[in-house]
Amino acid sequence: MKYLVALLLIVALAAGGAYFVAGRMDGPAIEITKPEKFVGTATPVEFVVHSPAAQLKSLTMMLEQNGKQFPLYSLGDQGVELKEEGDGVRVTRMIGKQAIPDLQSGPARIHVTASRPVVYGIRTVDNTVIRDVQVRLERPRVSVVSTHHFINHGGAEVVVYRATPEDITSGVLVGDVEYPGFPLAGANLTGITANDPALRVAFFALRHDQDLNTQIRVFARDEAGNVARADFDKRVFPKPFKQSRIQLDDTFLDRVVPAILEGTTDVKPDGDNLAKFLMINGELRRKNAEKIASFAGQTAREMLWAGVVFHPFTNTGVQSAFADARTYIYKGKEVDRQTHLGFDLASFAGTPIVSANRGKVLFADELGIYGNCVIVDHGMGVQSLYAHLSSIDVKPGDMVEKQQTLGRSGMTGMAGGDHLHFTMLVNGHMVNPVEWWDAHWIEDRILRKLRQAGSTS
Ligand SMILES: [Zn+2]
Repeated sequence: MKYLVALLLIVALAAGGAYFVAGRMDGPAIEITKPEKFVGTATPVEFVVHSPAAQLKSLTMMLEQNGKQFPLYSLGDQGVELKEEGDGVRVTRMIGKQAIPDLQSGPARIHVTASRPVVYGIRTVDNTVIRDVQVRLERPRVSVVSTHHFINHGGAEVVVYRATPEDITSGVLVGDVEYPGFPLAGANLTGITANDPALRVAFFALRHDQDLNTQIRVFARDEAGNVARADFDKRVFPKPFKQSRIQLDDTFLDRVVPAILEGTTDVKPDGDNLAKFLMINGELRRKNAEKIASFAGQTAREMLWAGVVFHPFTNTGVQSAFADARTYIYKGKEVDRQTHLGFDLASFAGTPIVSANRGKVLFADELGIYGNCVIVDHGMGVQSLYAHLSSIDVKPGDMVEKQQTLGRSGMTGMAGGDHLHFTMLVNGHMVNPVEWWDAHWIEDRILRKLRQAGSTS
């Protein structure tokens, strides 16, 4: 009898101990992966719950706002995306005005609570994770202020618009290509006294490889994902691009292929010089373009140029124009096709190359097919590029004045002879430089719009 009592006591103690220990075990691990901060009219909430052996007893999500609780999810709900991942699940749920009709703009909290059975189910342990969010239900507003927009295929344009509230992302969407807008107040141009912080300027382009009917609209988007769009008056003009044929010979390949490959780790082609050339002309050209486009993110928020025409390099002969469709011929056979996105200007060997306008040097180094290359930032996404230089006289970070020497012309990179390859860039996209050499275009397309918007605000 004594033994039985002792045994029962031990069992009771063990059970009590197990119950106590079980209560101290961890609940399921919860991570709210979306949203980080903002909830809009329709925002996905996503959370991941991990539990040993994927055992969950309960799982709920609710939103708390102004003392009210709105249940949003409970384990077993229909129509909720629930994906198993290892020993856990990932749940995605749309929240917003539709899921919660009483939702209001302002602060709110998302609660996710999960529990799991422990020690053969004698107890459950739970865990709750809370995310503080800001609800934004008002769509941003955007309206175009500037008038008469004329866009040449492969060329650039400017639009001035108002976007509110102030802390939103806005700009121009050309098809799926986005161009950021910058505060007009920072345009830094004589005659502009814009105090209205809602006024924005966006330089944009209709790329040579985009359709003439590509949709072009101004947009504004807040961090909650609410979007507003506005159309504006515009006309698009076709621009016939030339065709040209480039004859490749072994002398040219023997000179440029090893020299380009020595200066890059971006491609490592095998085979003969022609095979290597084709990889340089294709894959390296594409990687170089990506590198060039990456400097758009470093552009100044204000205009660094004084609003005068870009130096037109008039004392030079044009060898090749913007967006020429080039066919490459080797031993009588067509071997490649590429588009030439710049102007080739030849003068005499080693001629000084000057900055087309005032700006800040962002890049001054070797760059694949471009050889020794300089990129100058003129602000608000506008940049200029100078390639095939024999020497470079500037370094990244240097401020340069209009017509200040950047280096000397040469034939580094993929160049058949001594010349300057010049292009203008708008948010990293190569555009026809001819427009920027035209005083009438600069005045009518850019300065007129900035002044009109700047003086009426
Ligand atoms: Zn060129």
